[in-house]
Amino acid sequence: MPAPEDTHDCETCGASVAVADARRSEPFGDLDPDAWQTLNCPDCGDRLATVFVGDE
Ligand SMILES: [Zn+2]
Repeated sequence: MPAPEDTHDCETCGASVAVADARRSEPFGDLDPDAWQTLNCPDCGDRLATVFVGDE
């Protein structure tokens, strides 16, 4: 059962995307790509969220 915080709603196409299903890419700007990743919608490719992964 996924926790609510593990799902992001895409504002562009309305998809509800589980973190495990999202595309991941390096973050924008000066963020460390080893600590942060950008989640992208697998349906439309729009950015969903930037998440901290450095502590995993
Ligand atoms: Zn989308």
